[in-house]
This record gives sequence, structure tokens and C-alpha cells, in this order.
Amino acid sequence: MEATRIHAIESFGTLDGPGIRFVVFFQGCPLRCKFCHNRDTWDPAGGREVTLDELIADVRRYRGFLAPAGGGVTATGGEPLLHARFLSRFFAEVHALGLTTALDTSGFTRITPEISELLDKTDIVLLDLKHADDALHTELVGVSNKPILAFARILAERRIATWIRYIVIPGHTTETEHVVRAAEFVASLSNVEKLELLPYHEMGRHKWEALGAEYRLNDTRPPSRGELDAVANVFSQHGVPVSLNY
Ligand code: SF4
Repeated sequence: MEATRIHAIESFGTLDGPGIRFVVFFQGCPLRCKFCHNRDTWDPAGGREVTLDELIADVRRYRGFLAPAGGGVTATGGEPLLHARFLSRFFAEVHALGLTTALDTSGFTRITPEISELLDKTDIVLLDLKHADDALHTELVGVSNKPILAFARILAERRIATWIRYIVIPGHTTETEHVVRAAEFVASLSNVEKLELLPYHEMGRHKWEALGAEYRLNDTRPPSRGELDAVANVFSQHGVPVSLNY
């Protein structure tokens, strides 16, 4: 019986892919984003165990709601790629139910045979581009952006539909020079359907405090409308379709 660890399930998600989606938050993450709003997903031993059969039974129950408008299942986290073998089986079953599969990932991975097989079963990838500058990326999220940019290029080569997400964090990701680099990179990818701008928020801060962890963006505030529009304009000027989720 195949099993893995998940943090939570959201039965009627509307933000993480097309249509209505059954969203599974997988446990464990190799990144250490200072702005993380799911701090309680980091520990791979946390959350709860779930079997493949249990998850599929759950999805089957909601199938009628999920099927219209390209809806389906989204795997997020934490980092779902840590569960690639399990997810390949899960996504195959989701396809058998006539639903779509979406992977919401940091993209911090090598393309192993397991990851490659999972990508074969993935209809759409939601990929975070957290910072265009490698040193500042490492400062902000704890790892290099090089594997992530390489992953984005592989998605383009494999023609997997991709939505890029860019988090607008004043003082961290809003510098014009860096936004231009991010926009140039996204514009070079032929598979990107849209770029979603996500305003930084502090809603995850209480999770850090509950875990006794120090939240290190204390002096950071959510972006103003003007700051969001400025970032959106840079992407638009590079021909990138921007979706404003604010
Ligand atoms: S990739 Fe997502 S879950 Fe992981 S640390 Fe960053 S924001 Fe948190």
C-alpha cells in the first residue's frame, strides 16, 4: 500500500490551476523562504500519513464538481517533488478519472527518472520564480536559483504548460533591474501561459511564532498598488501575459 505524508487538503481550491481543484499540500520542503506562509510544512516527518487509495477515494467523491472547466487536482506543499514516485501513481489515477493534474512547485530539483515520469503525467506546472539574482535568491530562500531556472527551461523544452508566479516583496523583489532580468527570462520561455503576481503578505507569520521560529521579514510590508503595477508593467513590456491577483 503506497503512502506518504501530507500537511492538508483543500477540496475546492480556485487559485492553484484551472477550474475548481482538489489541492493536496505535501509535507517537507528543501527551501527556507523567509516569507514562507506554510512554515509548518517544512518538517518531512510532520503532517499525517495518507495512502494512495484514501486520496483517490477523496478525489472520486468530488469528481463531479472538479470535472468542468478543466478542473482537477493540484499537488502543492511544502514541495510536492519530494513525493515524485507517489505523485506519479496519484496523477495517473487522477487522469483515469478524467481530471487534470497540476504541480505547484519551487522547481528546486534535478531531473531524475522519477521526476521525468511525473512530468509526463503533469498537465500544468505552477512555478515560483522567487528572484532573478542568484546571490539574492540564496539570501531570500536559502538555495541557488540555478536548478530552478534549469527546471523552467526543461519545462519549456517538454512543452508543459506553465504559469510562473512572482512574489512582490518590497525591498526584496521589486528592484527594477532584477524584475527586468526575471521578465527577460520568462519571456524567453515559449510554454508560459501567464505570470501571476502575488503580493507579499504576513498571514503566515503566526505559524512561525507557533513553532518558536524567528520570522525575519519583520520590517517588510505588503506592496502598495503602485509597486505592484510597476512590477506588472515590466513583465508586460517584455510581452509576458500578467495576471493580477490583487
Ligand atoms: S518553497 Fe514554499 S513551502 Fe517551501 S519554504 Fe518556500 S514558501 Fe515555504
